[in-house]
Amino acid sequence: MDERGRRIGENETVFREVNERLRELGEGFSLVSEIAEFVCECATLTCTERIQMPLSDYEHIRSHGSWFCIISGHEEPDYERVIEQKESYAIVEKLPGGPAGIAIKDDPRS
Ligand SMILES: [Zn+2]
Repeated sequence: MDERGRRIGENETVFREVNERLRELGEGFSLVSEIAEFVCECATLTCTERIQMPLSDYEHIRSHGSWFCIISGHEEPDYERVIEQKESYAIVEKLPGGPAGIAIKDDPRS
C-alpha cells in the first residue's frame, strides 16, 4: 500500500476511536435524545466537521469493519466508495487492498 493510502487508513481509524467514545457518552443521554453527534471520519486529519445521526444509524455503520461515516464530498474515491448517501452524511466502504486492511485490523468491535 502506498504512503497516502496508509495515512488515510490511520486517520480514519483515529476518528472511529473518537466516535466510539462519543457513542458511549451518547448512550447515557439516549433517554433524552436518540440523536448523537459524531465526528466526520474522513481522511483529513484537520477536518472537524460534525455529523448528527441516530445511535441506531451509527450502530449500523459500526457493524461493518470497513464502513465509515463522513460528510458528503469528503470521500477519497481512490480508496473508498460511497455505499449509502444520507441527508446529512455518507457511508463509505474501504476498497479492498487499500486502507481497509488497517481499518479491519483495528476494528474496535472485534
Ligand atoms: Zn471530513
